[in-house]
Amino acid sequence: MAAEIIVVGAGPAGMIAAIAAAKAGAAVTLIEANEKAGKKLFITGKGRCNLTNACDTQEFFSHVLRNPKFLYSSIYDFDASAVMDMIEEAGCPLKTERGERVFPVSDHSADIIAALERLIRQSGIKFLKNTKVLGLVREAYSSDDEKKKYRYIIKGVFLENKETLEADAVIVATGGVSYPTTGSDGNFFRHLTSLGHTIVSLKPGLVPLVVKEESCMRMQGLALKNVSVSLKYGKKLIGSGFGELLFTHFGVSGPLILAVSSDYSRLCGGSSPMLTDTYEIRKDKTSQLGKGNDFGHSSKAYIHGEEADLYIDLKPAANEEELDERLIREFSQGQNKYFKNILAGLVPGQMKDVFPDICGIQADKPVNSITREERREIVKCLKNLHFTIIGTRDFNEAIITVGGINVKEVNPSTMESKLVKNLYIAGEMLDTDSVTGGYNLQTAWSTGHLAGVSAAE
Ligand SMILES: Cc1cc2nc3c(=O)[nH]c(=O)nc-3n(C[C@H](O)[C@H](O)[C@H](O)COP(=O)(O)OP(=O)(O)OC[C@H]3O[C@@H](n4cnc5c(N)ncnc54)[C@H](O)[C@@H]3O)c2cc1C
Repeated sequence: MAAEIIVVGAGPAGMIAAIAAAKAGAAVTLIEANEKAGKKLFITGKGRCNLTNACDTQEFFSHVLRNPKFLYSSIYDFDASAVMDMIEEAGCPLKTERGERVFPVSDHSADIIAALERLIRQSGIKFLKNTKVLGLVREAYSSDDEKKKYRYIIKGVFLENKETLEADAVIVATGGVSYPTTGSDGNFFRHLTSLGHTIVSLKPGLVPLVVKEESCMRMQGLALKNVSVSLKYGKKLIGSGFGELLFTHFGVSGPLILAVSSDYSRLCGGSSPMLTDTYEIRKDKTSQLGKGNDFGHSSKAYIHGEEADLYIDLKPAANEEELDERLIREFSQGQNKYFKNILAGLVPGQMKDVFPDICGIQADKPVNSITREERREIVKCLKNLHFTIIGTRDFNEAIITVGGINVKEVNPSTMESKLVKNLYIAGEMLDTDSVTGGYNLQTAWSTGHLAGVSAAE
C-alpha cells in the first residue's frame, strides 16, 4: 500500500517535499495555514524570485554560512540544475543573470508558484489551504528497540478545526520567523521542542544594521557604490566585502550590509518572541517621525546587540599615500578655498555636509590652514569611515532566520528526526543559512526534496 504522508507548510520546502513524495508513489496531503501557497516565495528577489544559483555544486557550500556539511547529501541529491529542470518542465522558462543567479524569464515569482501548483495538481496531491496544523499526534512504541531509539513516534497531525489526520510520516516545513506576516511566524518550533528537539537561538539574518551615530542618519537615502566595508567585533573581523551600501534613517542597509549582517546577528539579543520572553526590542527613535523605513514596512523595533565597528572604505582603489598626495595637490591648487569646496570632489553630495563633523574639521576652514594632522585625519576618514553598530532591525525586515532546529538532531541523509520516528524536517526551520544569491531557496528545495523522497520510502 502507498505510504500516507502529510506535509505541513506550502512554502518552497513543503511544496517540493509533497511533489517528491507523490512522485515516489506516496499518497500525500499538503497543509497550508494561508489561503494560498508560497506567500513568502511570492516576495522573494523583489518579486522576481532568485530561485537558485547555477554555480558549481562544490562552490555552493562556500556560500552557506552555517552547517554546510549538513547539506551535502540533500544538495547533491537535488542540486540547482535539478530544480531548474523541474521548474522549466512545469512550464516556467528560466534565465541566469550576473553572479549565476537564476530567475524566471518573466521576472515574476508568481510564475514559479504557478509551475509548482501545476506539479501539485498533476501529482494528485490533496492540498488543504486555510488549514492550520496545531500539533502532532503521537503513537505508542511498537517494540523495545523503538523505545530505546526514539523519544516519540508520530502518526499524524491535529488541525485547528479539531480534526485529526493520520499518516505514516509527517514532514514539517513551516519556515523560520522572518517576515512573519507571510505565515512563517515560528508557531511550529514549540511543537518540536515539546518533542525534545533543541533550537539554536533564532536571530534575524540578512538584515539591515542599526548605527549609534546620528551623523549616519543625516545621510539617509544616500547610496554608495563600489565601496568596501569591514565589520569588526573587538579585534575580530566578522565580515567584509565590496559593493553597494545604503544609509537609512536607522543606520545602514543594502547588499553589502546584508552580506555581513548574519554573522553580526549572533552578537544580538536572543530568540523569537514566539518562543521566549528574552527577545529585546527597543523603540527606534527615528521611526517615530512616521516616515516608515526604506523597505516600506511599519516595523519600529530593533534588536539590541553588542557594539561592533563598521569601517567604510570610500576610496578602495587608492591607498592612504595616494590619497594624501591628492589632497596636497588639491589644497595647493585651491589655496583660498574652504574645506567644504574641496570636499565636493572627494565625497558624494549628501555626505559633503556631514563629513566635516565626522573628521572634526570645520567646513569653512580655509584649506591653506589645514594642518598635516588634520589632512591625515581626512585620509583616515576616507579610507576608514567609522560607525558603531548597536543592533539589527527585527524579524519583520530579515530576509532569513539565523538559527533553528539543531541539525545534530536530524539525519542529513534523509531529513528524518533522530529523536522522533516518522518526523521529517525541511527548509528554513533548520539551523543552516546562506548569503543572498539564491542559496537559501536552493536549501529549501534540496532539503524538502530529500525529506519527500525519504518519507515515501
Ligand atoms: C523579502 C524576502 C526576499 C527573499 N528573497 C530570496 C531570494 O530571492 N532567493 C532566495 O534564495 N531566498 C530568498 N528569501 C528567503 C526564502 O524566501 C526562504 O528561505 C524560503 O522561503 C524558506 O522556505 P520554507 O519553505 O522553509 O519556508 P516558508 O517559505 O516560510 O514557508 C513556510 C510555510 O509554512 C506555513 N505554515 C507555518 N505554520 C503552519 C502551520 N501551523 N500549519 C500550516 N501551515 C503553516 C506558512 O504559512 C508558510 O506558507 C527571501 C526572503 C524574504 C523574506
